[in-house]
Amino acid sequence: MVATITGTDLRRPLKKYFGYDSFRGKQEEIIQNLMSGRDGFVIMPTGAGKSLCYQLPALIQPGTALVVSPLIALMKNQVDQMHSFGVEAGFLNSSMSRSDYEAVKKKAVKGRLKLLYVAPETLCREDFLEFLRGVNISFVAIDEAHCISEWGHDFRPEYRRIRPMLNKLPRVPIIALTATATPKVQQDIIHNLQIEEASVFKTSFNRTNLYYEVRPKINPVPQVVKYIKQNPGKSGIVYCLSRKKVEELAELFVVNGIKAVPYHAGLDSETRSKHQDMFLSEEAQVVVATIAFGMGIDKPDVRFVIHFDVPKSIESYYQETGRAGRDGLEGVCVLFYQFSDVVKLEKFMKEKPLSEREAGKHLLYEMAAFAESGVCRRKQILHYFGEEFEDSRCGKMCDNCRHPRPFYDATQHVTLALRAVNETGGRFGMNYLVSVLRGSQSQQIKELGHDQLSIFGAAKDIDEKLWKSVFGQLLIHDFLAKDIHEYGVLKLAPKGLDYLSDPFTIQFVDSLSFEPTEKDAGMTPMAGGEDYKAYDKTLFDMLMKLRKETAQRHDLPPYIIFLETSIEDMATKYPTTLAEFENIVGVGKGKAEKFGRPFVELIAKYVEEQEVVKPVDFVVKTSGKNSQDKLFIIQQIDRRTPLEDIADLRDMSYEELLEKIEQIVYSGTKLNLKYQLREIMDDERIEELYDYFRSSGSDDLEAAIQKLGADFTKEEIQLARIQYYSENAI
Ligand code: ADP
Ligand code: MG
Ligand code: ZN
Repeated sequence: MVATITGTDLRRPLKKYFGYDSFRGKQEEIIQNLMSGRDGFVIMPTGAGKSLCYQLPALIQPGTALVVSPLIALMKNQVDQMHSFGVEAGFLNSSMSRSDYEAVKKKAVKGRLKLLYVAPETLCREDFLEFLRGVNISFVAIDEAHCISEWGHDFRPEYRRIRPMLNKLPRVPIIALTATATPKVQQDIIHNLQIEEASVFKTSFNRTNLYYEVRPKINPVPQVVKYIKQNPGKSGIVYCLSRKKVEELAELFVVNGIKAVPYHAGLDSETRSKHQDMFLSEEAQVVVATIAFGMGIDKPDVRFVIHFDVPKSIESYYQETGRAGRDGLEGVCVLFYQFSDVVKLEKFMKEKPLSEREAGKHLLYEMAAFAESGVCRRKQILHYFGEEFEDSRCGKMCDNCRHPRPFYDATQHVTLALRAVNETGGRFGMNYLVSVLRGSQSQQIKELGHDQLSIFGAAKDIDEKLWKSVFGQLLIHDFLAKDIHEYGVLKLAPKGLDYLSDPFTIQFVDSLSFEPTEKDAGMTPMAGGEDYKAYDKTLFDMLMKLRKETAQRHDLPPYIIFLETSIEDMATKYPTTLAEFENIVGVGKGKAEKFGRPFVELIAKYVEEQEVVKPVDFVVKTSGKNSQDKLFIIQQIDRRTPLEDIADLRDMSYEELLEKIEQIVYSGTKLNLKYQLREIMDDERIEELYDYFRSSGSDDLEAAIQKLGADFTKEEIQLARIQYYSENAI
């Protein structure tokens, strides 16, 4: 009926309603397909312009297009946009008042709406179905269709009920759209929506303008503060996992002179939309957010996306970083990674049903492997989406290409790994294969007779950690393939089979080391910024020497003078006055006056001689919440409140409280904890601990625990250490 519509016909409304002169990518084909009555499946990256693929046909076809969309904010955005074009559109969701809801329904029944947005849970209500039967529906668009799949990064169970509901209505074309779809998720979407016949439109996921970098999460706050301050006027998003962290970090940014606002689902909707508006209008430079923020937010010039915590999957990572540089200009994406965050996330999933938890775990471990890999980030991401990236490196647009990791001869590993997959029949995941290769005496291996294979125990002498990277690269280079039905299971790909019959020398990239002990980690330059050095090594050594001399003169252990972290901080911030010196971590007024002068003089001389440019505005201050806590703790200790009670009153764990007390004391406030110490030990034991601290040259708590752990509890040691410090150093 409308098959005669040609490109020009579509271009006129494109200009008329949207003001655009031409279509982007495959938009036109997609719209033509839909208008000819066929189902469509659109897989295009964030920012590619998917919405237009259903908005435009909705406007020019008779009837009302039904758009299923998961987020209320997103619906409202789009409806507002349609209204601004002079088009009637509406949305229905659970946040509306009864009368608004009825008014929209009435309009729809009268045929006055071109687009009707609904939340999936609304769609699934029986009474809603009754209402829909009275509406002339032109087609159904399912936006963010990956929500259908448990294997996607944002599973919404109600999305799975869309199709059964639609089956109760007259048949109309369906268009499903998503920005992220691995082959597995794609298959889920097609099956669940029963659109096996749909035309599939997929464009490349390569976001060539985005720079990807993964940093070890060692002292990330100053790095982030510094980066933001070095890029004034550039908008950015900082993602954190927890609401608490979002609040803390936003506050910390504000204290440090950065215009930042928090955003998470725990804020009321008014505050959320206010903060969103502030970010869009650039009243706020940075939004610190949980992943609740960003879906459907159309700010084209976000210049950086920083992940303070590890994302839940590579898809989430791609989706979230995808919000940077939508306009095709600069987009810097930095992820701070440490393995313990992965473990933390895994724990969060405990309450989920088993199947979801298993899926979640696999996605998470893939993310970890991505972070730890030395392979070009872009190549890895594209491979994840089933897309071939021709070159072995992207050039200069990821950390691994800027600072290439060394290669090693992996011929032996590759051969063993492929043989292990082959000889066990392609039915197992990496962990199992590795335990066979390492000759593990597990029940399962014995039962399956895999201890009889020639490769059993063949890799005893190869470091276990290496395997993750070997298997990862075998996947990326298409020697192995993932089983699409069973997660984690690896199969031989044709290339792998060829290799076994005709092997050749092969080189792999070393994987990255994220050992948290690595002191010099995290010092590669953040893109756009100059080299970030954690601290000035030369000055650090000079200050350490001065600390030692001072300690000897006072007959005190060096750490009593200043902690090593304080010395590091001095070698970062170059305080040249006593006032500045007080801002150093672990140094308060008292301490600055007592020991500070020679240190300040040394630094001042060094700064002058070396012509150091001091990072003046780069002092990371702590936030108010923290100082309220501190004040409270000091008051309570003065009143001799038992520490357990203080912790309870302030809703923190005992360990957290001890940590806070340490901070207070190390920054130069004297506390008297004798009452608490006496509660748990007699004087003789206290004296024994004091002796240790007097004679030991190190302030290392771990070392103390090792030495004394047989006779004392950690708490006893920690408390005595604080008290000794308080009595002698302040
Ligand atoms: P997606 O849903 O794929 O993430 P959107 O539909 O939100 O992307 O579109 C991203 C941006 O691209 C929007 O600002 C939109 O107005 C713009 N856009 C879409 N199509 C075109 C076009 N043909 N020409 C110019 N801009 C477009
Ligand atoms: Mg979209
Ligand atoms: Zn690269």
